Amino acid sequence: MTFVMRKHAAAVVCGAALAAWPLALAAQNTPSDVPPVIDVHVHAMDDSGPYAVPMCPNTAKFTASDPDTKEAPFGWVQEECTPKLYPSAKGEYLKDVAAEMQKLNVTAVVFGSPEAVKKWQEAIPGHVIPGTSFTGGMGRGSRVPMDELRKDFTTGGFKVMGEIGLQYEGVSPSDMSVDQYFALAEQLDIPVAIHMGTGGSGRANVTTPTYRGSAGNPLLLEELLARHPKLRVQVMHAGYPMIDNMLTLLQANSHVYVDVAGLIWSYPIKEVNRYVERLVDAGFEDRVMFGTDQLIWPGLMRYSISVIQNADYLTPEQKRDILYNNAARFLRLDTKDKK
Ligand SMILES: [Zn+2]
Repeated sequence: MTFVMRKHAAAVVCGAALAAWPLALAAQNTPSDVPPVIDVHVHAMDDSGPYAVPMCPNTAKFTASDPDTKEAPFGWVQEECTPKLYPSAKGEYLKDVAAEMQKLNVTAVVFGSPEAVKKWQEAIPGHVIPGTSFTGGMGRGSRVPMDELRKDFTTGGFKVMGEIGLQYEGVSPSDMSVDQYFALAEQLDIPVAIHMGTGGSGRANVTTPTYRGSAGNPLLLEELLARHPKLRVQVMHAGYPMIDNMLTLLQANSHVYVDVAGLIWSYPIKEVNRYVERLVDAGFEDRVMFGTDQLIWPGLMRYSISVIQNADYLTPEQKRDILYNNAARFLRLDTKDKK
């Protein structure tokens, strides 16, 4: 979840029964020579939204603003770029992303309300792994009732609990007020995906008064993990930019993986490469998962994949691990061989 997501987040209303998650990952209408990719971080938006604007990925800098003036919510420097990413035409977003996912041979974990995720499953059959959360879109402290959430993950077909956006409320994932949800995930053996790190626009102080950078500290997960030793955790956005704390957590807990979603296209490219390289060089190449944080711009997924493919510090095997194998292992997909 990044800067724009909060504005467009749909209310999480649980209870819809979803079709069973198809085990066959072979994509139809995909060129057979395109190796499969798993994107572990996609949002179930069905439109680019009326306020969406073209975007230059990997902004060069975040600009200061003055509280005495009208401050733009988007703190990225104004610049020209190639490629520039464009929002879809009104009503075309889901169709555009579906076409991209088929061309790129992508299976995605798609997060949202059960209704929104169901729409994606219908639009891109066989390419969607459904995810839903107990937070999101309903304001600070709003929670999905436990019995509804339990139904989503027992009879509803949901496979990942996320995106858990407690950082936007300034709440630690180890806070006891949300422990029951993590206990449920551990009991049902459902992996959890928690937003930790990125503040997005560089203007959280303007757009999101309850957001706290400190609530994205990866080490805040330690008490939660101690209470729930079997919990499998996806640290969304890889705890960026707290690399030392992220590595400390990865060293201490081998059930923790990270995704590079959002950060991969929303920070300066040199910094992105340095961060991913540090994770890999520290010995965690089997815990880094590809993700886009796909929203608004249908070309975002293709662009984000290219950042990994163009990374000269990664071996071809490490690229495949990040783009597919690590997520397949984390999600326990029925894959017989490495791809
Ligand atoms: Zn996020």
